[in-house]
Amino acid sequence: MGIRFDSVTVAYDGNVGDVALESLDLTVEPGEVMALLGPSGSGKTTALRAVAGFVRPASGRVFLGDRDVTDLPPHRRGIGMVVQQYALFPHMRVDENVAFGLKARKAPRASKGEIRGRVAEALEMTGMAAYARRYPRELSGGQQQRVAIARALAIRPQVLLLDEPLSALDAQLRSGMLAELARLHRELPDVSMLYVTHDQVEALTLADRIAVMDAARLQQCGTPRELYRAPKSEFTASFVGGANLLPVTVGSGGVDFAGTELKVDTGGVVAQARATLCVRPHLVGLGEGPNRIVGTVSEIQWRGATHRLYVEVGGHTVMADLRELKAPPVHGDEVSLHFASEDAVLLPAGVSHG
Ligand code: ADP
Ligand code: MG
Repeated sequence: MGIRFDSVTVAYDGNVGDVALESLDLTVEPGEVMALLGPSGSGKTTALRAVAGFVRPASGRVFLGDRDVTDLPPHRRGIGMVVQQYALFPHMRVDENVAFGLKARKAPRASKGEIRGRVAEALEMTGMAAYARRYPRELSGGQQQRVAIARALAIRPQVLLLDEPLSALDAQLRSGMLAELARLHRELPDVSMLYVTHDQVEALTLADRIAVMDAARLQQCGTPRELYRAPKSEFTASFVGGANLLPVTVGSGGVDFAGTELKVDTGGVVAQARATLCVRPHLVGLGEGPNRIVGTVSEIQWRGATHRLYVEVGGHTVMADLRELKAPPVHGDEVSLHFASEDAVLLPAGVSHG
């Protein structure tokens, strides 16, 4: 079942004149995984809470499928939700925790046998069947989060909301759980997922599409590839993937960067306008080539598979990620960098102009 935000604005009491979510328009297709990606305080959790029914929009409507649920209480929305802090009941066993949501919702109707079956199914899906009779304190963080996911799945939701579900786990567990979530999604192809994270790796790995949030607003929504290849703002470019953001002046058929002419598609931006050129560090090469930039190496970092080179060019720094350098340049060397015209994206001028 799809999710649709129709101009949803949320303002918390006491934050007068300062909305937490501003006029959000966003559609999650049935069976799609949509990541809400943005820094802390950008309104991601607020958006999720509006879908779950824990906050009431000041204006706008929320739809699940064709149904306007804006006025429905949370327990009548048929939504599964997983939050960062597991939120398991410490005095209940794993199976009791998983059954809790079912009982709270369907107590009069679901038979004991049905509840037992659903709990077993959900624990099976999350690989926790063997832990049914343990208490939360007898589980690792990763296992507790699996139980929280099982509890959300037990109600067989059409929509699953996940709010930074992996951020309490250490890095290694996180990547394992990420693979688990991808598998769950394959097993539940009809369930729409809205996945909140501030971690671009999680968003890029898991999501069909990413909605980038900043300062209560949706900045851009697209497939990971679209956001990476065609960011529309400096914010998106730097938040998704990392980028060189070079202040340039637009000319005819190209731009001027620190006195160097670069041939890039100016896409109809008027001449003399200030703009920002976005080039991904791994698409910058060392040595002669088209769009050559000459500068001085200020720093070089070895990162295992690559070297990261920082090159000073007319008071700006250009980063290049280079593979397999046999004789890497050293601090103070003059070097040439280059990039292909099609690997650069011209953006509206922003913070990089100071
Ligand atoms: P995110 O999940 O992206 O970190 P939130 O949606 O939690 O952001 O918060 C968005 C904004 O709303 C922030 O400025 C935050 O301080 C504010 N906010 C969040 N929850 C409350 C609340 N219960 N009461 C008042 N302000 C809140
Ligand atoms: Mg949050």
